Amino acid sequence: MRAAVLHGAKDLRVEDVAEQEPGPDEVSVRFRSGGICGSDLSYYFKGRVGDFHVCEPLILGHEVAGEVIGTGPLVEHVKPGDHVTINPSRPCRTCDYCRAGRSNLCRNMRFFGSAALRPHVQGAFREVVIARADQCHPIPEHLSWAEAACAEPLSVALHGVARAGNLFGRTVIIAGAGPIGSLIAVVAKRAGAHVTITDIVDPPLETALKLGVDEVINVAAAPEKLAACEANKGHFDVALEATGVPSALAQLFRVVRPGGRVVQLGMMPPGEIPLPANMLMAQEIDYVGAFRFHEEFGHAVRLLSDRLIDIRPILSAEVPMSEADEAFRLAADRTRALKVTLVF
Ligand code: ZN
Repeated sequence: MRAAVLHGAKDLRVEDVAEQEPGPDEVSVRFRSGGICGSDLSYYFKGRVGDFHVCEPLILGHEVAGEVIGTGPLVEHVKPGDHVTINPSRPCRTCDYCRAGRSNLCRNMRFFGSAALRPHVQGAFREVVIARADQCHPIPEHLSWAEAACAEPLSVALHGVARAGNLFGRTVIIAGAGPIGSLIAVVAKRAGAHVTITDIVDPPLETALKLGVDEVINVAAAPEKLAACEANKGHFDVALEATGVPSALAQLFRVVRPGGRVVQLGMMPPGEIPLPANMLMAQEIDYVGAFRFHEEFGHAVRLLSDRLIDIRPILSAEVPMSEADEAFRLAADRTRALKVTLVF
């Protein structure tokens, strides 16, 4: 079968790899759609994500939906022909965090398409994906493959908002209107917040308005608009960081009001970055991280299946796997695309 294998920065080859058989509690899924994530882009362009370097060939991809084509003898909840979206998290299910219901912090996590471990955990941009049965969530046939694949980034947004706490009636600012920032905006609106979102280019901000965001700020074209929010010790109740840019994070501390909360979802550059720690202290700002998701994946599947959340405005293009290089360039061009999906 074919797979999209990264051999190093900008060296992505669609090549033959060995097909595997599902284990007793595993499922074979025929790949139908896979979304390109910011971390896939970082692996592709830089050969690393944060502190994780690609040291051996790595099949990318962890946002995937497809059709079940085979199951091991212990699998009961799906059968061949079913449509599923795959949770790319494969936690150990036995460590203290897994047992406490925080499996995103699993001590032995094997996450699809990640160079965090050696050997690397291979990803899902392949014609047939093998997943543990509990990773496979059935989806209704009316849901498009591309939407179903977005259950993963929607889960990230849901977890970020969960870490932000109750947003009903709150003023919220989101730094970064990429796919994650846009999905956070949709979820925060549903949670009852007044939502402002920032970016440095206009096209994703125009999409954010279509998604129902209250206010958009282009911080490159009109930095004074955000700077005005720093007056009188800040304005927003909650800030969510979805850029991975240190200066954007620092500014969120200045625009959040005393007693407010800053949630960091963006992956910052490797190593350490400076933080306005005295502001955090003197204004009693809560600073929390949000990493991937746990039970939110099931919630995302239900929200998409019932169309309680409509993420179709962020789906920009569907590109054949044979043109994967062009798909990655398109996904990285923030003036042309939000979520780009791949198909074989
Ligand atoms: Zn675990």
